[in-house]
Formats: sequence, structure tokens, C-alpha cells
Amino acid sequence: AALYRVDGWGAPYFTVNSSGNISIRPHGVETLAHQEIDLLKVVKKASKPTSSGGLGLQLPLIVRFPDVLKNRLESLQSAFNFAIQSHGYEAHYQGVYPVKCNQDRYVVEDIVDFGSGFRFGLEAGSKPELLLAMSCLCKGSPEAFLVCNGFKDAEYVSLALVARKLHLNTVIVLEQEEELDIVIDISRKLGVRPVIGVRAKLRTKHSGHFGSTSGENGKFGLTTVQILRVVKKLEQFEMLDCLQLLHFHIGSQIPSTALLADGVGEAAQIYCELVRLGACVNVIDIGGGLGIDYDGSKSQDSDISVGYSLEEYASAVVQAVRLVCDRKGVKHPVLCSESGRAIVSHHSILLFEAISASSYQSPPMSFDGLQDLVERLPSDALADYRNLYAAAVRGENDTCLLYAEQLKHRCVEQFKEGSLGIEQLAAVDGLCEFVSKVIEVSDPVRTYHMNLSVFTSIPDFWGIGQLFPIIPIHRLDECPAVRGILSDLTCDSDGKIDKFIGGESSLPLHELEGNGCISGDGGSYYLGMFLGGAYEEALGGVHNLFGGPSVVRVSQCDGPHGFAVTHATPGPSCGDVLRMMQFEPHLMFETLKHRAEEFANNGDDDSSGSIALASGLARYFDNMPYLMAASSCSLTA
Ligand code: PLP
Repeated sequence: AALYRVDGWGAPYFTVNSSGNISIRPHGVETLAHQEIDLLKVVKKASKPTSSGGLGLQLPLIVRFPDVLKNRLESLQSAFNFAIQSHGYEAHYQGVYPVKCNQDRYVVEDIVDFGSGFRFGLEAGSKPELLLAMSCLCKGSPEAFLVCNGFKDAEYVSLALVARKLHLNTVIVLEQEEELDIVIDISRKLGVRPVIGVRAKLRTKHSGHFGSTSGENGKFGLTTVQILRVVKKLEQFEMLDCLQLLHFHIGSQIPSTALLADGVGEAAQIYCELVRLGACVNVIDIGGGLGIDYDGSKSQDSDISVGYSLEEYASAVVQAVRLVCDRKGVKHPVLCSESGRAIVSHHSILLFEAISASSYQSPPMSFDGLQDLVERLPSDALADYRNLYAAAVRGENDTCLLYAEQLKHRCVEQFKEGSLGIEQLAAVDGLCEFVSKVIEVSDPVRTYHMNLSVFTSIPDFWGIGQLFPIIPIHRLDECPAVRGILSDLTCDSDGKIDKFIGGESSLPLHELEGNGCISGDGGSYYLGMFLGGAYEEALGGVHNLFGGPSVVRVSQCDGPHGFAVTHATPGPSCGDVLRMMQFEPHLMFETLKHRAEEFANNGDDDSSGSIALASGLARYFDNMPYLMAASSCSLTA
């Protein structure tokens, strides 16, 4: 556990149990020992064939824990409740979940359900997000906010006004000044009194990666000049009472409470000014930014860590607003936050399997043709060869690689000119490969091939270099014998993970048992990517047509296994991903079937074989694109 810093990033939800497996503590600190869920048992249950009592799902697999989601939500609410009580704040906290962090139906429905007791709402940033938020909030608290952010057109605004007509507590937040005209116009046409918010562009700037949209030159929000114009216009249309919420967002992963308090304090000043100007504001929405400690370092100087707890975050917000409002004699506003990452990151784990690992042995060297080659080398290439030899004797690896590269380059040129035969070129290639493999062996970082697409499942690693805790989920009572990087299935050199938390360029890993793992037997080696419940699923693409993982929802329950799988969905099939590219799998199938029958009619095949071939083809469309255990793979050829 210490090697992988589990206690740092994993507390209080993840721990290592006495079998050396990762255990989930679904209720956080309140989890009792018998309520812990062994993750390996979940993977086995999900992936075993149905004939052996499993669910027959293919990996990669996302395991969701709704209990963890509930605990996160309740912990956030209690942190604010506690801060409000201890600082004598005279209004309540009522948060919203920004659905863009994970729009999965069950995730959103769970959040509305778990949060209905404390008026927890949703935030939407586009029309489909608004539609899903509207339908989910029909089952939520009537007071829960439905905050409408993002760029808006007339259709978005009219949908938000329809939501108000449906008695959903909808707030249209102006991200741009021009949106005000649309809101005034459409609300008059529809005869609906809107509730309006403004997003302020604060001067407080968050300098980390996630803060690039903050500050005066940020992409979103209204400047003070624009806010004043909005106030004037609303006054002119006798709608100033509609302006009820002040919003800001200084970026995700706010590193410190000092920066947070600075931003909140600035926003509170604007809020008090809006009160002075006659607006009926009563809510400050502090946006997202509540961070996650991905590496467990509690550092303020890194994009992947934060130096505060939930309690410290809530306390900083409450104190900053109270201070400003008390000085100005303004009634304390309701506090709203749009915490996404902090709510959903922990609840899901991505699990994937190693297929094989690169060899640790130096390759056998064949020196056939080398003598002949050396005799024919021109003087510059011969000098490279001699230098390579001398560097090898001195044990200078980098110099060896340099001369090997030069020698190869010169010989390729000669081959292109026609003065070197293919046997000599092959001898040079063999020599250079030998040199690089021997050097690789002295630097024993191996490549573990994973049944995964980084582009689909960990897009933020590929796109912005974001690190997540990635560790084996079992054998943690064994000392890992090697170090490795992880390479995925895509035909792309970017499809690898070679940076890990703690600044490591390789991961301690265990030797694979048997011949690799796509075997379905006891030799599988499973890794998990933790804290990836926010953003990764919707951002992922289908590079190489690898679609999303299978998904299971697992709840803690009393009983022999300690958990129940309440929902299971296989990942998109080959047919599903082909459909995304406008192919029509049933037509593709018909074309191939027709082809098979055609060959049968031409006598190129016997007709029974062709019929079997055609009917077997269907399965290829139905299965997931990822590699399959040999035992579950029935071949058709
Ligand atoms: N609200 C707005 C307006 C955002 O842009 C974001 C994300 O950047 C969020 C909320 C969610 O932020 P976080 O995931 O840091 O909580």
C-alpha cells in the first residue's frame, strides 16, 4: 500500500486488505470492517462466464459504487453545514452537481435522489444537459436549483423558461451580455418571469492548468462594465427583481484555500454592490474548483493535488462571504457550489487487464553476414562500427546507441543507392536491434500491454497529461519484481502511460503468471485507474474504434459476498462503434453474407460452410472491440 501511496489518495474509500487486494470502504470513515468490498471479487463476478455464475462481461470495466457517491455528497453537505454553524452564518448551503462531469443516467439520478433531502440540484451547460437535468429534477427537491450555464441561444433560453413553467427552480446564468436580450425577449413572449444569474469575470486568477479560463482575459463571464449594463437594462425593463444569483468559476482544482478565499471575497464584494444597486440577489454560486488529491501529497503547488480538506474548503467559503457581507451590512446569501470533480471522482474505478509484457531476455544474436558486411563498409560506416564496438567494450550505453544509429543510417543510404545487398542490411539491422535490446535489459523498465484504449478511457492523460492513481488491484502483499510502463491496444505511439503519480516514469509491477493474461484462467493481472469518475467518460473518443468499457453498479449489502451488482451493461459492441461512423452493421452483415453465398453458388466453397460462415459473422458485430479471453472466443473461419 505504501509503495502505491494508497493511504494518501485513497482515504477513506480505498485500502489494501489482508488478501493483498484493494478493498472499497463504501461508506467512507463510517464503513465497518464487514462492509468492505473486495474489488477483485467484483471483477471476477463481472467477468466470469454466465455459465460459472458470473455476468460474462468483457473488460475493460467501470465499477461504480453508488454508496461512495452518496458519501461524497453527504460529506460535502455536512462540511458546509458544519462551517455555517460554527461561523454563525445566517443562510444555508445548497449545491448543484454540474452534469458535464459525468452525465451517466444512474449517476445523475443517484445524485438527485441522495441529495433531495438537502435540496441538492443540477447544473447544465448545453441543451441536452438541460433536458436530462429537467427530467431528473422532476424527482428531486422542488427547491433544488437547476442552474443553466454555458453559451445560450433562443432555443436554450426557451427550454430553460419551460423548465420554470414546470416549477423547476431554474436560474438562467448570463455568460455573455448578449444573452440578456434573448432572455428578456423570450420570457415576455412566453409570459414567464425568469430568474436570472450573472457570471462575473473575477480578477482573481488561478494560475494552474485548470485556471486558464479565469482572470480578466478569461473566456467566460461578464466584466464589471457589462454587469452594470445588465443591471441598467433590467431596471429599464422593470426586471431587476429577476436578478437573483451571482455566479463565478475560477477554474477546477483550486490549489489552496487562500486563493479560494480571495476569489470568494471578490465575488462577495460584487454581490454586495448588486444589493446596493437594487437587485434582489440572494444566492452566491461559487462554481466548481473543489479539488481532488490525485497523488495524496496534499500539495498546493501541483495541478493534481490540493492542500485542503472538504471542511477547510467549506470553512474558507463561509468565512469569506460572511466577512464581506457583515462589513457591508448585507444579509447573508444562500451559498451554492457547482462541485463536480469532488463529488464523482471517487465513485468509479476503471479496471483493465494486462495482456502480456515485453521480454526481459536479451535476444539471441545471429552474426550471419556480419563479416561480409564489415569488409564492404565504406570508411565512415566502418569508423561507426569500430566506435560502436569500442563503446560496447567500455559499457557506454548511450554512445553505443548513437553509433548504432549512425551505422544503420549510412547502411540504409547505401542500400538505397544499390551498393549494399539485403543480407548485409539485415545484418546491420540485426546488430542494431541486438545493441538496443541488450541496453534495454540493463534498464529493466518493461512494457506491459493492456487491454485498454487510453484515448477512450483516460483521455485527460493523453490530452493534458493529467495523472491518476493507477495500480494493480491484487497481489499487493507481494513485492513487485519489476517496473513497467503501460501500453494500450491502439496503433498509436501516444497510447501509453509512462508517467505516474509521485513523478515516477514507471510503475512497480508484478511478473505476469503464465503466458500473459487473456486466458480467462487464474493468471490474470488486473490494474485499476482510480479517481477517474469525473470528465473521463464523456471526453473519451473512439480512436481505432475502441468504444467505452462495460459498466457495473455495485452496492454494499449484508450477505455472503458483501455486495450486489444492481446493474450491468456490456460496453459498446463492434456494431455499435461502427454505427457511430455512419456504417450500418446490418447492411454490412448482409453484404458479407451475400458474398459468402455467392462463393457457394460459384462452387468455390461448399454451401454448408458458407452458411455457417455467414451466420458466424454476426457474432463479430455483437462483441466488444477489445481483446477477448481465448476461452470465450469461438472462432469462425
Ligand atoms: N462549473 C463550471 C462553470 C465549470 O466550468 C466547471 C468545470 O470546469 C465546474 C462547475 C465543475 O468544476 P469542478 O469539476 O472543479 O468541480
